[in-house]
Amino acid sequence: MSTEPRTVTLPTADHGNVTLTEPSWCTGHVSLPGDLRADILHQGPDTVLAFHGYRIGEAGLVQSPFAESLSRQPGVSVSLLGQTLDPRGLYELAADLDAFADQLRDLADQLTALLAGGTQ
Ligand SMILES: [Zn+2]
Repeated sequence: MSTEPRTVTLPTADHGNVTLTEPSWCTGHVSLPGDLRADILHQGPDTVLAFHGYRIGEAGLVQSPFAESLSRQPGVSVSLLGQTLDPRGLYELAADLDAFADQLRDLADQLTALLAGGTQ
């Protein structure tokens, strides 16, 4: 197995074919005609939030190595927020989701009691 860094060559409208080092986690790119070098986006596999087969949202590693407005450092894109978060933001989101899950369980307990008691 090669120890050389993986590279990928992607077509761009402003810099022609651009060859760059592939992060080990990158699983693909969305490349559209007219894309600029700044549009290059490394994407990792999605972590999916689903309920009964309905896809609610996903999150995954991303990096735009030539972006001017976004951080060039890797981040995690969270579809539910439409934002890319750093580790601190991800921990904060996870804590809020934990709290929400607790609130859902509390509501389930409340609903169970209401239904069992027959009172509204
Ligand atoms: Zn890539």
